[in-house]
Amino acid sequence: EVKALKKYKPLRFNYTSGRHVSVAGNIGSIDDLELLLEQGTEGIGLFRTEFLFMGRTEMPSEEEQFEIYKHVAETMKDKPVIIRTLDIGGDKIIPYMNMPDEENPFMGLRALRLCFKEIEVFKTQLRAILRAGYYGNIHIMFPMIGAMDELLKAKTILETCKHTLLEQGIPLSNHLPVGMMIEIPAAAICARDFAKEVDFFSIGTNDLIQYTLAVDRMNVDVSGLYNPYHPGVLHLIQSTIQAAHEAGIWCGMCGEMASDIEATSLLAKMELDEFSVTGNAILKIKEQLSYQTNITVE
Ligand code: PEP
Ligand code: MG
Repeated sequence: EVKALKKYKPLRFNYTSGRHVSVAGNIGSIDDLELLLEQGTEGIGLFRTEFLFMGRTEMPSEEEQFEIYKHVAETMKDKPVIIRTLDIGGDKIIPYMNMPDEENPFMGLRALRLCFKEIEVFKTQLRAILRAGYYGNIHIMFPMIGAMDELLKAKTILETCKHTLLEQGIPLSNHLPVGMMIEIPAAAICARDFAKEVDFFSIGTNDLIQYTLAVDRMNVDVSGLYNPYHPGVLHLIQSTIQAAHEAGIWCGMCGEMASDIEATSLLAKMELDEFSVTGNAILKIKEQLSYQTNITVE
């Protein structure tokens, strides 16, 4: 089966409307790169950086992070690499970060919320990403944004880090695209407003589904209610993609739904711009794309 799928590896796809649709992959460390490269990935649609911070006793230094991000950027050459800033909290705990015990961690001090509190941790990561951007096509992405203020604050901090690096004469990417995850329903509902402030969206269906349906993504007792095809979820996905296109930006998806071959046809009809998939799903998704009536092979 794997062999039969190989023929899809070099294929690139466009919607009949003219938009390109790319198939990229998700990584949690540099060890995940190889599998994606073997399948001809068009980029990294999500680099989950929290794994660099987990399973250790102290925070990775700016230098350590820089080397890792640079390695990914250089390996991918001119292909886009979307680095997501730290999304810790929820189910992911870091002992050295002094995180409170919370009754509802998925609704608590997670991701950007925690980064704003631990501002030096955040700035260290932003500096490392900006510096690595000099060596490849790095994009930055902020997770778990619900309110406009959070996005504007994150962008301001990024600008501050940029200026400090420039003042210090340290090489950096000065025009690194900035995107946000759409994974909180309020952000999806207000996607028109957010689209004016970012270069791209990436829909995080794992959280978007959990928050839209009020179904814990980790709880087996309610897993029957965790439904990517709930009309409420599909409505948010469609309106987010539409809002992005109307504002002239692109919209990808990096949640599990992007890897689900049952969903490909639906998402292609909505003209999703990028499928960022897990592990070995690239060729499977490319196969599905090749069957779509509104898609042509480049
Ligand atoms: C998501 O929520 O869909 C997502 C991609 O992020 P994570 O699974 O890391 O929360
Ligand atoms: Mg998420």
